[in-house]
Amino acid sequence: MPERLLRVCALYPDLMNIYADRGNLLLLERRCHWRGINFELSASGLGDELDPDAADLYYLGGGQDRDQRLCALDLAETKQAALHAVAARGGLILAVCGGYQLLGHSYQLGDEELPGIGLIDAVTVRSDGPRLIGNVAIEVELDAGRRRVLAGFENHGGRTHLGRSAQPLGRVLRGYGNNGRDGLEGARAGNVIGTYLHGPLLPKNAWFADWLLATALAASEGLDPLADALEDAAHADARRAAGV
Ligand code: GLN
Repeated sequence: MPERLLRVCALYPDLMNIYADRGNLLLLERRCHWRGINFELSASGLGDELDPDAADLYYLGGGQDRDQRLCALDLAETKQAALHAVAARGGLILAVCGGYQLLGHSYQLGDEELPGIGLIDAVTVRSDGPRLIGNVAIEVELDAGRRRVLAGFENHGGRTHLGRSAQPLGRVLRGYGNNGRDGLEGARAGNVIGTYLHGPLLPKNAWFADWLLATALAASEGLDPLADALEDAAHADARRAAGV
């Protein structure tokens, strides 16, 4: 069998990494390693140009409003066109919380409006109301007819509202999701996926890591199974914490 390789590019790994979102990258690396799939990790920070063909998966974690501001401006200035090119060729983009907010059109913080890159038809508004914090579980249908659960933890002041042309990633089973009102969580536009779920997300939902991996590698025959007793326990625990 030819050598397989997953190339991941982490955007602003030093600035956009709260709740150990970097653990998502570690999990991908481990699951590749255990299957004999090569793994290559690159980073793109403030001011760096982005090559839209240099990775199979582009990853953006969560961040505080202050760090998000720096990244929002940089995304708009130096990376927006490249990320649109990634999406147009069907490349994977995964963004969590603060990163997810920046995939929309804008993030309104009081009088200030941070630009988003418009990959998802959504706007986010920072509310004066309480932060939306807690364990969360959502139901997703990434493959038609196959409903599964993602479980994690959310903590955000911003409320995201999807526009008419946006699809949610899933339906809230427990927790707040995009805005605590409409029962929707995250967004998906083809292989561009945004979610509020930290945890980190992938160690609590190894099945989703494998979905990303299989999609990135176009492995229609699926991936070799792994001994997932610990991962299954982590998933069950996250669901239990959310009450699902
Ligand atoms: N700063 C954003 C908010 O509070 C995102 C926070 C996060 O990434 N957890 O809404």
